Amino acid sequence: MSIVRIALDVPLPRLFDYLAPDATADDIGYRVSVPFGNSSKTGVIVDWTASSDQPVEKLKAATAILRDMPRLPADWLAMCEFCARYYQAPLGEVMALALPPMLRRGKLPRVMRAKKSEGAVPAVPKGDCPETDSKLRGVPKGDLLRGVSPAPPSDGLKTFSLPELLSAQHAAVGRIIATADFQTFLLHGVTGSGKTEVYLRSIAAVLAQGGQALMLVPEIALTPQLEGRVRARFPQARIVVANSSIGDATRARGFLEALNGQADIVLGTRLAIFIPLPCLRLIIVDEEHDASFKQQEGLRYSARDLAIWRAHQQGCPIVLGSATPSLETYHHARSGRYQLLELPQRAVAIAPPVVRTVDTRREKLQEGLSVALLAGLEQRLARGEQSLLFLNRRGYAPVLACPACGWISHCLRCAANLVVHLADKRLRCHHCGFEAVIPPACPDCGNIDVQPFGRGTQRLESTLAARLPQARILRIDRDSANTARKWQALLATIHAGEADILIGTQMLAKGHDFPLLTLVGVVGADAALFAADFRAPERLFAQLMQVGGRSGRAELPGEVLIQTEYPDHPLYQALIDHDYARFAQSQLDERKTAGFPPFTYQALLRAESPAMVAATDFLTQARAQALPLAGSAVALYDPVPMRMHRLMALERAQLLVESDSRPALQNFLAQWMPQLYSLKKPRTLRWHLDVDPLEF
Ligand SMILES: [Zn+2]
Ligand SMILES: [Zn+2]
Repeated sequence: MSIVRIALDVPLPRLFDYLAPDATADDIGYRVSVPFGNSSKTGVIVDWTASSDQPVEKLKAATAILRDMPRLPADWLAMCEFCARYYQAPLGEVMALALPPMLRRGKLPRVMRAKKSEGAVPAVPKGDCPETDSKLRGVPKGDLLRGVSPAPPSDGLKTFSLPELLSAQHAAVGRIIATADFQTFLLHGVTGSGKTEVYLRSIAAVLAQGGQALMLVPEIALTPQLEGRVRARFPQARIVVANSSIGDATRARGFLEALNGQADIVLGTRLAIFIPLPCLRLIIVDEEHDASFKQQEGLRYSARDLAIWRAHQQGCPIVLGSATPSLETYHHARSGRYQLLELPQRAVAIAPPVVRTVDTRREKLQEGLSVALLAGLEQRLARGEQSLLFLNRRGYAPVLACPACGWISHCLRCAANLVVHLADKRLRCHHCGFEAVIPPACPDCGNIDVQPFGRGTQRLESTLAARLPQARILRIDRDSANTARKWQALLATIHAGEADILIGTQMLAKGHDFPLLTLVGVVGADAALFAADFRAPERLFAQLMQVGGRSGRAELPGEVLIQTEYPDHPLYQALIDHDYARFAQSQLDERKTAGFPPFTYQALLRAESPAMVAATDFLTQARAQALPLAGSAVALYDPVPMRMHRLMALERAQLLVESDSRPALQNFLAQWMPQLYSLKKPRTLRWHLDVDPLEF
């Protein structure tokens, strides 16, 4: 008997056996097409065996083993298996996500840029890096690293002139490139401290040795600017860029180039963690605290956490970089599990911004703006400098309300309000996309004086346009920058100095330097101080540090004005002192007392259904089923409606599972999962498990 065991993209936690008379153990890792139900599917061969648990006469025969693509290597299969195990997902679903859509469908991109234009490309034996035609190979390591010396090069080497490193950068690069084994580094440095330069030098060292480097960045930060900087530094290198906006064929080609060992650098967002790299020698995760590394739907994996596992698997160093590390990462760095590399100084000659709070309790605001902030804006306008107003709420106003009867604009499908978008005269739900025309009168009582309440970016824009008519105002949020092209155009406008005042959400905070920007105003941030989500202060601190870091230039330090009713709040005080460590320590102390991560490990079982009672019933049964398995190491809380308890006309509830021990939680989940699949449920109910959830 020759039987192949296949991972198929089916929502069942099992593999599928098929007969394949011509198969051997060497076929593990090939894609294969098989009949499935009334149609066919493409999967990946993960095992070859002589016998099946199922009666042989019931097995169908595989249609074809697709040997035209190199085998997916054993370490790639192992990573997918780990991901499936850790996040309790079917292996076939993990592989379906990990493969570019074209390869998943059993196809190949038509033209490979590589010289090998047709036929099978030989698979790379594990642990053996293929020779490639990269011009970087064979360059003596010393030459590539000469720039690492803090002293200017004494000889007249005709190489590209690298920026001089500060001693902390120099030390960081030295530690990273001296590490040949697995080690997790936290590179902690404020905006402008030169983290990117540390990454680039470390990558250079890896390329000089014939290795491959993987650099992960948050979704919004992967701009042509960063890509351009990497390409300019490594003009000879083959760079594969991977993000969700890249076309099908290009993505498949990049995947294959990396798999064949032809790519030197893979630069991408979270999906890039699944790109196979036979000679991987270094992983970098920039802005490691960014929430976009965790996928929030389907397979809820954390690319950062998988990256650490992958570095361990490969026996190579990984660098997590951030100005405001996640508290999990910072905790590990403090406890010695990770190596802490600090970049305390700005590399460029820019003083850190001066941060001040504006106490809005004692002042009647003018359309939400304080005298101090308005004066600051006028001053920058007069000097020809740029200002940025940070308001993390898009639209004109968060809600439309009737003062006569108390009606407010609820979304009928979600537990959320419809946001007023005055520019296109619409009410819009930011959660489900529902839209309606702004009603001319209150739908309940007929009062024609319905009013927008609160303030969003659009309202701030029109307020400022009225007050400062001479100012060129640019609003940057997901409405104005809803495509990559519009976003690039807006960035170009800012860089060309063709805007005076930028109004933006957190989109603007990430990864962009605006040399003309000298004032940042923060409006409406207080709500996050007291949010029910225990991670809200961590996110707010990171956002404000990031957005403040955008301001300032050599001759003129930036200024950050935070409008608040809580000027003495420790979070704002830590921002004023630029003291991440103090803020992080106070948050860690609070979390330790409260028993939150990183001191505990969590998983959420969520259920959604047209009726809340069905969702909570399901969770109650799931909990009863789990209790005998949980033992004393795992705590099971009561099922509760989620804070946003209705989304797209589905009621949502959740059940929190918690443990002090990650292995104990993992063991428990592994036993619970098969039982969950067997639990009776209404057809309309859906459930999923979120391991290490970021959002509650
Ligand atoms: Zn009314
Ligand atoms: Zn909605």
